[in-house]
Amino acid sequence: MEKRRRRFVELLRLEGVRDEKVLKAFSEIPREVFVPDVPIDLVYSDTVLITHRKDGMILSTSSQPSLMGRIMEDLGISKGDKVLEIGTGTGYNAAIISRVVGDDGIVVTVENERELYEIAKENMCKLGLKNVVCVHGDGYYGFENSAPYDRIFVTVGIDEPGVNLFRQLRVGGTVGFPMNLYCFTWNPYFVMVKIDDEKLMGNIRFDTSFLKAGGNFAWRKNLLDRMMHSRERFNHVGSFSIPRLSYSFLEFLEICSLRLFRRTEYIFIDIEERGYAIFSGRFGGTKLEVYGHEELHDEFEGFFKMWMGIGRPSITSLDFLMRYSSRIPTVEPSHRYIGQNW
Ligand code: SAH
Repeated sequence: MEKRRRRFVELLRLEGVRDEKVLKAFSEIPREVFVPDVPIDLVYSDTVLITHRKDGMILSTSSQPSLMGRIMEDLGISKGDKVLEIGTGTGYNAAIISRVVGDDGIVVTVENERELYEIAKENMCKLGLKNVVCVHGDGYYGFENSAPYDRIFVTVGIDEPGVNLFRQLRVGGTVGFPMNLYCFTWNPYFVMVKIDDEKLMGNIRFDTSFLKAGGNFAWRKNLLDRMMHSRERFNHVGSFSIPRLSYSFLEFLEICSLRLFRRTEYIFIDIEERGYAIFSGRFGGTKLEVYGHEELHDEFEGFFKMWMGIGRPSITSLDFLMRYSSRIPTVEPSHRYIGQNW
């Protein structure tokens, strides 16, 4: 077994994990404890493993180890840190982090499925990991009692890092999260720094595909469901010609507006639920059909001009600023880039 784990660590090194503390943690924690039904060769490969299903749906996985390690490095997790993890699963990531922060540090991890929370707690006991606190609850609310945290590591796709996580992070601390995209099939993994009591700044580091979170993290999906459920109450108020759309712009629009979706068509929703707009025609279309709230057209135009104005960047080449002055953050490309030539 020792030899298997040594080879595993070498594999992670080849896959880009650099930090010796992180590599050492991988050599100390037996992954098979967290994925009991998986053949041992697969356990020590650099792959995502399914750990829990319910009614045929995948409910929980053990993430790809090299990705976990690289995120830990990007978050700057170090000895003595207090780390909040969202989405415990069976607990492998929390166990690895507990070795990186050492006995002076602490890991608080929140899971919303009771059964998984129980399993994780038992796994920590089995391994004698005393600095991991397992919490059962909706991670959207974080865990106030132990706040503020130095680092927050989200391991499930979320609609945005809610205001609770933001408040529970100390200024200067980092948060990493996979953001749900409803128009595309990947999750951009953001790593951001809390620069003051109102703002996060950071960018996209990895192209990932995490499971989507339940609970209040899925507020954008809930917004779409509510709006589409009662769409008859909105009258058609205008039809506007729009420029040909590109995927780059739609990704930008989705992240900066937090309210673009795709079903059969692209749908752009008013945050106050006063109306919505649908792009009709080929490739997102050449027309914007607006229902309920005429100003949606101007807003759409505003985003398009902003994107054109900064040189039509792809989202992976931008820095983003998230401002938490209201319930839902505003997201904007960081000023650092505005006015630069591409
Ligand atoms: N960190 C885990 C991987 C977790 S997979 C590991 O290392 O193995 C994502 C987990 O997030 C699942 O177990 C899922 O049940 C949980 N989850 C989904 N929505 C959640 C929510 N709102 N709050 C907390 N956990 C959630």
